[in-house]
Amino acid sequence: MTADVLVVGAGVAGLAAARRLTDAGRRVIILEARNRLGGRIWSHDPWRTGRPIDLGAEFIHDSPLARRLSGAGDVKIDARYEVQWDAWRRCLYVFGGQTIGRRERAAPLVRRVMDGDWYGLLKGARGSVAAAVSRWPDVVARSIALRQAQGYYTADARDLSARALYEQWRDWEGGERQWWPRDGYGALVERLARGLRGRIHRGAVVTRIERSLRGGCVRVVTRGGRRFEAARAVITLPLGVLKTSAVEFVPRLSRAKRDAIRQVGMGDVVKVVVRCRPFWGELRFIASDRDVPVWWPLPARRGVGGAIVGWVGGPAAAALAERSADEIKAIALHSLRRLFPRAPAISPADVVVANWSREAFTRGAYAYDRSPQGPTLRERLGQPEDHLLFFAGEATEPLHYGTVHGALESGRRAAGLVLASFGLQDAQVGRKGLVRSVSMRRL
Ligand SMILES: Cc1cc2nc3c(=O)[nH]c(=O)nc-3n(C[C@H](O)[C@H](O)[C@H](O)COP(=O)(O)OP(=O)(O)OC[C@H]3O[C@@H](n4cnc5c(N)ncnc54)[C@H](O)[C@@H]3O)c2cc1C
Repeated sequence: MTADVLVVGAGVAGLAAARRLTDAGRRVIILEARNRLGGRIWSHDPWRTGRPIDLGAEFIHDSPLARRLSGAGDVKIDARYEVQWDAWRRCLYVFGGQTIGRRERAAPLVRRVMDGDWYGLLKGARGSVAAAVSRWPDVVARSIALRQAQGYYTADARDLSARALYEQWRDWEGGERQWWPRDGYGALVERLARGLRGRIHRGAVVTRIERSLRGGCVRVVTRGGRRFEAARAVITLPLGVLKTSAVEFVPRLSRAKRDAIRQVGMGDVVKVVVRCRPFWGELRFIASDRDVPVWWPLPARRGVGGAIVGWVGGPAAAALAERSADEIKAIALHSLRRLFPRAPAISPADVVVANWSREAFTRGAYAYDRSPQGPTLRERLGQPEDHLLFFAGEATEPLHYGTVHGALESGRRAAGLVLASFGLQDAQVGRKGLVRSVSMRRL
């Protein structure tokens, strides 16, 4: 099958790229390995309540870009769904078997860490976040900060660059606020996919991507041997997949690209959602050193009668990921019971597990910086190869990596580069298609 552009992956980056290319009159084919769209956005309705829950991305993180997307109607920021993780009134911190009490909270460093406002302290630090934090005098602050960094960035703090983290914090254009998208993230995927349906091949597991410089074309082969040809391809494979040999590039990707793939980190995350009668009162956020350490209830309208989300990131997630879904359910329920001894009994049937590191088509959570060169390496991830292969996906984003809006922007950026490589701009192109000039014979 032929097209002007092949898009590999129908996550947000792939769909956004396909949208822009299609709007510009290009003939696009999208190859998606799964039978569903959205990738790391996974709005799922496990209990058939008619109210899907987000097992992947869940929040809109504040930034000018996210607000622009909201203004354009891509996601809906609604004040009623602001996440109220106010550190003092509605948060419970349990470490070393003790609830963090007034005495510890009075310590300025502990307060700062609990407010999530400590990244500025990494200024001038070399090496890892773990090394930087280990120099702090306060054991409680250290412990919370380490778990916070590992949970949020889904990385081992020993592998997470303190300088890169500081610089991201310094350059962050957004605020601290975040929201649940009003209709869940699935609505964004549906919106992006509207009008693309006939062009998407689901269950198309790409195994080989060939490019011919002389022929000026790309051939993509799927499991089962189906072949697709085009003048260009946009590759939105997750970094975790690029790190494996699941997809072969012929000829090999450039050394710079391979180095970047190796050197940018991919985190680990396990997310669980527990359906139950609400027992958490006013609490909105729970952090602890349990096996499943972090919990937050879903807001009532998004909830399924009552639901609480459990989150494990970083090395703990990498270890948990090796367990079966049943074991993870049992571990999650055990953690919850230890935090809330009076919680009602919960059946494993009311627990759903998303083990992202074991998902063959994701293999991890999202990108993180292992060295101060992280932003440069991620930029390299996003650079085209031979003006034939164009790369997008959250890991290619300079500042907003690891987010939905970053992935979306990366897809649009890659599509813009594809159009420019054709010598075209969005509105200029006709509908004839470019594929006639393409020849794979010389591959
Ligand atoms: C648990 C979790 C929670 C998150 N929470 C948030 C959040 O609250 N807010 C936020 O902004 N971001 C969050 N993120 C990050 C956000 O989900 C991602 O940054 C974004 O969705 C990535 O989009 P993408 O298109 O780059 O990649 P993906 O969504 O991973 O898309 C890549 C696509 O490629 C497909 N694919 C893989 N291999 C092949 C193959 N061989 N052949 C064909 N197709 C293939 C995959 O199936 C997938 O559809 C979260 C991520 C996770 C995992």
